[in-house]
Order: sequence, then C-alpha cells, then structure tokens
Amino acid sequence: MNAVGVDLGGHKVVAGFVENGAVRARVEESTEASREPGPVIAQIARMVHELGAGSQVPTGVCIPGGVDASRENALMITNFMGWNGLPIRRMLEEAIGGCTVIENDANAYALGEGFAGAARGMNDYVVLTLGTGIGGGIVSGGRLLTGAHGMAGELGHIVLGCEELCGPGCRGVGHFEAMCGADALERRAREMGLGHRAPERHPDLRDLWARRADPAVAPFWDFALSTIARGIASLVHVFDPELVIIGGGLRRGEGFMELLEARIPRYLGEPFRRTMQIRSSLLDTDAPIFGAAGLARARMERQTAGQMEQPGGERP
Ligand SMILES: [Zn+2]
Repeated sequence: MNAVGVDLGGHKVVAGFVENGAVRARVEESTEASREPGPVIAQIARMVHELGAGSQVPTGVCIPGGVDASRENALMITNFMGWNGLPIRRMLEEAIGGCTVIENDANAYALGEGFAGAARGMNDYVVLTLGTGIGGGIVSGGRLLTGAHGMAGELGHIVLGCEELCGPGCRGVGHFEAMCGADALERRAREMGLGHRAPERHPDLRDLWARRADPAVAPFWDFALSTIARGIASLVHVFDPELVIIGGGLRRGEGFMELLEARIPRYLGEPFRRTMQIRSSLLDTDAPIFGAAGLARARMERQTAGQMEQPGGERP
C-alpha cells in the first residue's frame, strides 16, 4: 500500500509519496510564515494533494514537538504558537480528506529507520540524532516506546551533567542537549576561546572538527565525545538494543563515528561491550517521512481490518 509522509519543520515542510520502500515523489516548501495552525494545516493539505494522493492514500504527519498519548492532540510545538492542546490529527484529517496520523518527528525518524533503514527487521533499537537539538526514539519489543503520557524517548533531556541550563520549553538543568546540542557546543567553544580560523566568524563545528588534532581544540572534542559516549552507554544499559543508530549533522565529520564508537566500551558493563553496536542513519532526513508514511499505512490497515485502534505507533 502507498502512503504519504510529511515532515513539518520550523523552516520547511517536506511531503513525500512513499511506494514500495522508496520516496517516489516529493514536494518541499518554506513553512507558512505565521506558523499558525489554520494556515499550516491548509499548506500541508495542499502539498499532499499536489502529490496526487487521493483519499484512498493515508497520510502521516510528523510535528516538531510533543503529541499526547492518544496521538490526537499536540502537546507543545517549540516555536509554533497556538498549537497546544489542539486536536491536530482530526484537523489534518478533515483538511486532507483521508486517513491521517500524527507523530513526534524524532519518533517518526526512529520508526523510519525500522521500516526502511538501518534497523530494518529489528525489534529493539535506539535512534539518537545529534543536531542543533538532540532527539531520538526507542523501539523496544517491536513497539515504539511512548510512555504513560506519550512523552517517552526524550533522549536529549537525559541528565549527564549538573547545572547546564536547557533551552526554553524545557528549563531543566544538566541535560544532554544543554551539553552536546550544536548550539551548546558552539557556546562552549566560544567560552574556551576557540574562535573560527577566520577571526570575524563564530566558532563553527565543522571547522573545529577539522582542527581536532590541535592541542587547543582537542579538549573540546574530548569533552563532547566522552559525553555522547556516556549517553549512549546509559541507553544501552537501559534498553539493551540490537543497534544504536546515530543521525543528525555531527556524525558527518570524517572519522567521527569511529572515534565515538571507540569511546563507548569503557562506560559499559562487560556483557554490553560484546553486544553494543552503533551505525550511522541510512535514511538521514528522509527517515521521518518513511516513519510517518509507515504509521499512516498501519492505521489504514487496522481501519480496513476493523480492529480496535491502539495508540502509540504500532509497527505494521
Ligand atoms: Zn532539557
């Protein structure tokens, strides 16, 4: 069965028509400037129709924020005003005119890697995305972990530090993202006096990675790699995954994955050193589109089969 996956971001919206495990067609636009629910939902519906998807093709939409346990309402979308508590799934379904599901974008990313990427065929895996923010999702026993309130899998907010203040919308201290999100790392580089080679520019992580052997820069990456390795080791102890998949921009540095992998075993208990595996994301920015489309397909199949619906993104 075909399905459409839509990735709603703060700056752009991407919609892809997924057929036989590949994105066959896609449209991409800047996110409607007001970011208000009405205009953005109308934009998504128009893009889905542009793909030629009729009411017989289900649509999955992933949003850059929380959804409640029923997968009906938005909980909190960072930088989108007025979405809190709205029945977004129903509003999208009415606008699009066909079966629709919503999911948090990091969870959709994780499911996408299971449907068509690095975790294909696996029942237990963790996806960790290292970008401006740190996100991720956990599939355990073949199911996406959603928790009692729909909020499970906030991997960027596990506590690896002490007093580092997390961003607006969180405000917790000591969180992973407040230490190793790209914004946090750039702030740290400035505090360590590590400017860009071109003095008029801010520190740039790609530039700093290229200079990682420089004795002034090495401690910066020692901190970052060790912190990320501690985070991964903690996740491995809690979830015992077959695989940890790393997404996001940081991993693209040449040799980054090898250096990171080498750091992890010392933080692991002995049996976990033998089972721990990490790998780069295969689908990259397409992962949420595959995940959202797969969820939509699963919902449509359940509806067709007339079964009771289960919230929380069961894998098809
Ligand atoms: Zn936080």
